[in-house]
Amino acid sequence: MSGAVVELDGVGKTYAGGVAALRDVSLSVGYGELVAIVGPSGSGKSTMLHLIGTLDRPSAGTVRIDGHDVAALTDRQLSALRATRIGFVFQQFHLTPGQSAVDNVADGLLYAGVPARERARRAETALIRVGLAERLGHRPHELSGGERQRVAIARAVVGEPALLLADEPTGNLDSASGAGVMDLLWELHEGGTTVLVITHDREIAGSLPSQIRLLDGAVV
Ligand code: ADP
Repeated sequence: MSGAVVELDGVGKTYAGGVAALRDVSLSVGYGELVAIVGPSGSGKSTMLHLIGTLDRPSAGTVRIDGHDVAALTDRQLSALRATRIGFVFQQFHLTPGQSAVDNVADGLLYAGVPARERARRAETALIRVGLAERLGHRPHELSGGERQRVAIARAVVGEPALLLADEPTGNLDSASGAGVMDLLWELHEGGTTVLVITHDREIAGSLPSQIRLLDGAVV
């Protein structure tokens, strides 16, 4: 296995219709890093996060995640890699309505082959870790935006992934809740999780230990 959790080598992505969203991107991210991905709208940030998250395959070049060449894996193997090694957090939270925080987080272990009782136990531990010990039974509509994003982060990390990918995690939050979410990402980083965060917020990006800047599909 290589020393990097993410390695892109000459990666391009051209969508149907001929839009070149990424061109010849090469970069690597080491285990345990906390990295901001920045750049104007349309510069290819989400496309890059999708490729790193193995949700899509590149049109050119090589994507290696946690030592695996994505091109060498079948769709089933990719799903397994995603389910066990990668956690996702999105701007819109994507929690299941009507389901408690514990059940939402336990869903993060559905594909990892963990028995139901153990899923619930680990979900509670993850929620306590993100500061929601008092909200275990609350459903999404009973939580604030910041609390919902904490539930989403707990779900993303309950399986202890090598890599946490966050696409504008503070985009729907007021600045105090957003700062709380960033503090949490810092804590996860300090605990050894690799964290990649897309952000439009210059102040947030500038506060992180490293930045990957995209412009017109290329790293600058
Ligand atoms: P960002 O996240 O920086 O806003 P994106 O990765 O979403 O940038 O988009 C990069 C470029 O690729 C844009 O020109 C966008 O319109 C285009 N694009 C993104 N997704 C698709 C898609 N599924 N099909 C066609 N074009 C797309």
